[in-house]
Amino acid sequence: MRQPLVAGNWKMNGSRDSVKALVDGINAGMGDISGVDVLVCAPYVFLADVQTLLQGSAVQLGAEDCATETSGAYTGEVAAPMLAEFGCSHVIVGHSERRSLYGESDEVVATKYARVQDAGMVPILCVGELLEEREQGITENVVARQLDAVINASGVASLANAVIAYEPVWAIGTGLTASPQQAQEVHAFIRARVAAHDAEVAAGVRILYGGSMKPSNAAELIGQADVDGGLIGGASLVADDFLGICRAGM
Ligand code: PEP
Repeated sequence: MRQPLVAGNWKMNGSRDSVKALVDGINAGMGDISGVDVLVCAPYVFLADVQTLLQGSAVQLGAEDCATETSGAYTGEVAAPMLAEFGCSHVIVGHSERRSLYGESDEVVATKYARVQDAGMVPILCVGELLEEREQGITENVVARQLDAVINASGVASLANAVIAYEPVWAIGTGLTASPQQAQEVHAFIRARVAAHDAEVAAGVRILYGGSMKPSNAAELIGQADVDGGLIGGASLVADDFLGICRAGM
Protein backbone atom coordinates (compact mmCIF):
# COMPACT_ATOMS: atom_id res chain seq x y z
CA MET A 1 0.00 0.00 0.00
CA ARG A 2 1.44 3.35 -1.03
CA GLN A 3 0.99 6.07 1.56
CA PRO A 4 0.16 9.37 -0.16
CA LEU A 5 2.74 12.15 -0.12
CA VAL A 6 1.82 15.82 -0.32
CA ALA A 7 4.87 17.96 -1.08
CA GLY A 8 5.02 21.74 -1.26
CA ASN A 9 7.32 23.47 -3.71
CA TRP A 10 7.72 27.05 -2.57
CA LYS A 11 9.83 28.02 -5.58
CA MET A 12 11.52 31.44 -5.24
CA ASN A 13 8.99 32.86 -2.79
CA GLY A 14 8.95 34.05 0.78
CA SER A 15 10.98 35.92 3.33
CA ARG A 16 12.32 34.74 6.68
CA ASP A 17 9.20 36.19 8.32
CA SER A 18 6.67 34.79 5.87
CA VAL A 19 8.34 31.37 5.91
CA LYS A 20 8.15 31.29 9.71
CA ALA A 21 4.45 32.18 9.61
CA LEU A 22 3.81 29.54 6.95
CA VAL A 23 5.62 26.75 8.80
CA ASP A 24 4.02 27.71 12.10
CA GLY A 25 0.63 27.54 10.37
CA ILE A 26 1.34 24.13 8.84
CA ASN A 27 2.68 22.74 12.11
CA ALA A 28 -0.39 24.00 13.96
CA GLY A 29 -2.73 22.18 11.57
CA MET A 30 -0.88 18.85 11.51
CA GLY A 31 -2.67 17.46 14.56
CA ASP A 32 -5.58 15.97 12.62
CA ILE A 33 -3.53 14.77 9.67
CA SER A 34 -2.56 11.12 9.51
CA GLY A 35 -1.94 8.50 6.88
CA VAL A 36 -0.28 11.01 4.55
CA ASP A 37 3.35 12.07 4.39
CA VAL A 38 3.87 15.83 4.31
CA LEU A 39 6.93 17.59 2.92
CA VAL A 40 7.88 21.20 2.24
CA CYS A 41 10.61 22.02 -0.28
CA ALA A 42 12.15 25.38 0.48
CA PRO A 43 14.64 27.77 -1.18
CA TYR A 44 18.22 27.03 -0.09
CA VAL A 45 18.61 30.12 2.06
CA PHE A 46 15.61 29.21 4.22
CA LEU A 47 16.61 25.59 4.85
CA ALA A 48 18.34 26.25 8.16
CA ASP A 49 15.39 28.26 9.49
CA VAL A 50 12.86 25.70 8.33
CA GLN A 51 14.92 22.83 9.72
CA THR A 52 14.71 24.50 13.13
CA LEU A 53 11.00 25.29 12.77
CA LEU A 54 10.26 21.66 11.89
CA GLN A 55 12.00 20.16 14.90
CA GLY A 56 9.52 17.74 16.48
CA SER A 57 7.12 18.14 13.55
CA ALA A 58 5.91 15.32 11.30
CA VAL A 59 6.53 17.57 8.31
CA GLN A 60 9.65 16.68 6.35
CA LEU A 61 12.03 19.13 4.70
CA GLY A 62 13.22 19.12 1.11
CA ALA A 63 15.10 21.25 -1.39
CA GLU A 64 14.04 22.39 -4.84
CA ASP A 65 17.16 21.50 -6.83
CA CYS A 66 20.84 20.61 -6.43
CA ALA A 67 24.07 20.77 -8.37
CA THR A 68 25.32 18.07 -10.72
CA GLU A 69 28.67 18.15 -8.90
CA THR A 70 29.40 17.32 -5.27
CA SER A 71 31.99 20.03 -4.51
CA GLY A 72 34.47 22.37 -6.12
CA ALA A 73 34.68 25.51 -8.23
CA TYR A 74 31.00 25.90 -9.17
CA THR A 75 30.15 29.40 -7.97
CA GLY A 76 26.56 29.74 -6.88
CA GLU A 77 25.77 26.02 -6.90
CA VAL A 78 24.62 23.95 -3.92
CA ALA A 79 25.66 20.30 -3.71
CA ALA A 80 23.44 17.45 -2.58
CA PRO A 81 25.60 16.53 0.46
CA MET A 82 25.17 20.13 1.70
CA LEU A 83 21.40 19.70 1.56
CA ALA A 84 21.60 16.48 3.54
CA GLU A 85 23.49 18.38 6.24
CA PHE A 86 20.51 20.71 6.63
CA GLY A 87 18.11 17.85 7.27
CA CYS A 88 16.65 17.51 3.80
CA SER A 89 15.05 14.14 3.16
CA HIS A 90 13.98 14.90 -0.44
CA VAL A 91 15.20 17.01 -3.35
CA ILE A 92 13.16 17.96 -6.42
CA VAL A 93 15.02 17.34 -9.68
CA GLY A 94 13.97 18.15 -13.23
CA HIS A 95 11.19 20.57 -12.38
CA SER A 96 9.84 21.97 -15.66
CA GLU A 97 11.04 25.45 -14.68
CA ARG A 98 14.60 24.10 -14.40
CA ARG A 99 14.23 22.28 -17.71
CA SER A 100 12.73 25.20 -19.62
CA LEU A 101 14.26 28.30 -17.99
CA TYR A 102 17.72 26.87 -17.28
CA GLY A 103 18.02 24.42 -20.15
CA GLU A 104 18.42 21.31 -18.03
CA SER A 105 18.60 18.27 -20.28
CA ASP A 106 17.39 14.79 -19.38
CA GLU A 107 21.05 13.86 -18.79
CA VAL A 108 21.60 16.73 -16.36
CA VAL A 109 18.43 15.76 -14.49
CA ALA A 110 19.56 12.14 -14.36
CA THR A 111 22.90 13.23 -12.88
CA LYS A 112 21.19 15.33 -10.21
CA TYR A 113 18.89 12.41 -9.40
CA ALA A 114 21.93 10.20 -8.81
CA ARG A 115 23.64 12.86 -6.68
CA VAL A 116 20.58 13.12 -4.44
CA GLN A 117 20.55 9.36 -3.87
CA ASP A 118 24.32 9.26 -3.38
CA ALA A 119 23.84 11.79 -0.57
CA GLY A 120 21.25 9.54 1.10
CA MET A 121 18.15 11.53 0.12
CA VAL A 122 15.11 10.81 -2.02
CA PRO A 123 14.85 12.51 -5.42
CA ILE A 124 11.47 13.74 -6.62
CA LEU A 125 11.83 13.33 -10.37
CA CYS A 126 9.54 15.68 -12.29
CA VAL A 127 8.34 14.70 -15.74
CA GLY A 128 5.68 16.19 -17.95
CA GLU A 129 4.77 17.44 -21.40
CA LEU A 130 4.34 20.93 -22.86
CA LEU A 131 0.93 21.96 -24.17
CA GLU A 132 2.06 21.61 -27.79
CA GLU A 133 3.38 18.13 -27.06
CA ARG A 134 0.00 17.11 -25.63
CA GLU A 135 -1.71 18.61 -28.67
CA GLN A 136 0.63 16.66 -30.95
CA GLY A 137 -0.32 13.48 -29.10
CA ILE A 138 3.25 12.81 -27.91
CA THR A 139 2.71 13.09 -24.14
CA GLU A 140 3.73 9.47 -23.55
CA ASN A 141 6.85 9.76 -25.72
CA VAL A 142 8.01 12.82 -23.76
CA VAL A 143 7.34 11.33 -20.35
CA ALA A 144 8.95 8.03 -21.39
CA ARG A 145 12.09 9.83 -22.60
CA GLN A 146 12.39 11.78 -19.34
CA LEU A 147 11.87 8.65 -17.25
CA ASP A 148 14.14 6.43 -19.33
CA ALA A 149 17.04 8.87 -18.92
CA VAL A 150 16.99 8.14 -15.20
CA ILE A 151 16.35 4.41 -15.54
CA ASN A 152 19.22 4.09 -18.02
CA ALA A 153 21.62 6.05 -15.80
CA SER A 154 20.72 4.76 -12.33
CA GLY A 155 18.81 1.54 -12.99
CA VAL A 156 15.17 0.77 -12.33
CA ALA A 157 15.97 -0.41 -8.78
CA SER A 158 16.85 3.19 -7.91
CA LEU A 159 13.16 4.04 -8.20
CA ALA A 160 12.54 2.04 -5.02
CA ASN A 161 14.10 5.04 -3.32
CA ALA A 162 12.57 7.84 -5.36
CA VAL A 163 9.34 9.66 -6.04
CA ILE A 164 8.08 10.56 -9.50
CA ALA A 165 5.99 13.68 -10.07
CA TYR A 166 3.91 13.93 -13.22
CA GLU A 167 3.48 17.62 -13.91
CA PRO A 168 1.91 18.58 -17.22
CA VAL A 169 3.71 21.85 -17.95
CA TRP A 170 0.50 23.49 -19.23
CA ALA A 171 -1.05 22.98 -15.78
CA ILE A 172 1.78 24.44 -13.68
CA GLY A 173 0.88 27.80 -12.21
CA THR A 174 -1.79 28.36 -14.85
CA GLY A 175 -4.92 27.46 -12.93
CA LEU A 176 -5.52 24.75 -15.54
CA THR A 177 -5.59 21.32 -13.93
CA ALA A 178 -5.40 18.00 -15.73
CA SER A 179 -8.68 16.19 -15.32
CA PRO A 180 -8.50 13.24 -12.95
CA GLN A 181 -8.81 10.97 -16.00
CA GLN A 182 -5.99 12.74 -17.87
CA ALA A 183 -3.78 12.48 -14.80
CA GLN A 184 -4.63 8.82 -14.20
CA GLU A 185 -3.88 7.91 -17.82
CA VAL A 186 -0.34 9.28 -17.65
CA HIS A 187 0.28 7.95 -14.14
CA ALA A 188 -0.78 4.48 -15.27
CA PHE A 189 1.50 4.81 -18.29
CA ILE A 190 4.45 5.74 -16.05
CA ARG A 191 3.78 2.85 -13.69
CA ALA A 192 3.47 0.41 -16.59
CA ARG A 193 6.75 1.64 -18.05
CA VAL A 194 8.49 1.00 -14.73
CA ALA A 195 6.69 -2.36 -14.42
CA ALA A 196 8.12 -3.43 -17.76
CA HIS A 197 11.49 -3.42 -15.97
CA ASP A 198 10.43 -4.42 -12.46
CA ALA A 199 6.85 -5.04 -11.30
CA GLU A 200 7.68 -4.78 -7.61
CA VAL A 201 9.39 -1.42 -7.95
CA ALA A 202 6.47 -0.18 -10.08
CA ALA A 203 3.93 -1.24 -7.45
CA GLY A 204 5.81 0.62 -4.74
CA VAL A 205 6.90 3.86 -6.37
CA ARG A 206 4.86 6.92 -5.50
CA ILE A 207 3.75 9.01 -8.46
CA LEU A 208 2.56 12.50 -7.50
CA TYR A 209 0.43 14.77 -9.64
CA GLY A 210 1.44 18.43 -9.92
CA GLY A 211 -0.28 21.28 -11.71
CA SER A 212 -2.66 23.75 -10.04
CA MET A 213 -3.71 21.27 -7.37
CA LYS A 214 -5.84 22.91 -4.69
CA PRO A 215 -8.10 21.80 -1.84
CA SER A 216 -11.13 21.75 -4.16
CA ASN A 217 -9.67 19.33 -6.73
CA ALA A 218 -7.15 17.37 -4.65
CA ALA A 219 -9.41 14.58 -3.38
CA GLU A 220 -10.57 13.58 -6.82
CA LEU A 221 -7.05 13.65 -8.25
CA ILE A 222 -5.47 11.76 -5.36
CA GLY A 223 -8.43 9.37 -5.48
CA GLN A 224 -7.23 8.01 -8.82
CA ALA A 225 -5.69 4.55 -8.65
CA ASP A 226 -2.19 5.59 -9.68
CA VAL A 227 -2.08 9.09 -8.17
CA ASP A 228 -0.22 8.89 -4.87
CA GLY A 229 -0.33 12.49 -3.77
CA GLY A 230 0.60 15.90 -5.06
CA LEU A 231 3.46 18.28 -5.72
CA ILE A 232 2.00 21.65 -4.91
CA GLY A 233 3.27 25.04 -6.02
CA GLY A 234 1.04 28.07 -5.45
CA ALA A 235 -1.29 26.45 -2.92
CA SER A 236 1.66 25.37 -0.76
CA LEU A 237 2.30 29.01 0.14
CA VAL A 238 -0.96 29.28 2.06
CA ALA A 239 -1.02 27.08 5.17
CA ASP A 240 -4.78 26.43 5.09
CA ASP A 241 -4.75 25.51 1.41
CA PHE A 242 -1.76 23.24 1.83
CA LEU A 243 -3.32 21.57 4.85
CA GLY A 244 -6.59 21.21 2.93
CA ILE A 245 -4.73 19.26 0.24
CA CYS A 246 -3.01 17.13 2.90
CA ARG A 247 -6.44 16.27 4.36
CA ALA A 248 -7.72 15.40 0.89
CA GLY A 249 -4.90 12.86 0.69
CA MET A 250 -5.96 11.07 3.88
C1 PEP B 1 4.86 23.08 -9.30
O1 PEP B 1 5.53 24.10 -9.49
O2 PEP B 1 5.42 22.01 -9.10
C2 PEP B 1 3.40 23.22 -9.33
C3 PEP B 1 2.69 22.13 -9.41
O3 PEP B 1 2.90 24.50 -9.29
P1 PEP B 1 1.35 24.91 -9.15
O4 PEP B 1 0.74 24.04 -8.08
O5 PEP B 1 1.37 26.35 -8.77
O6 PEP B 1 0.72 24.65 -10.48
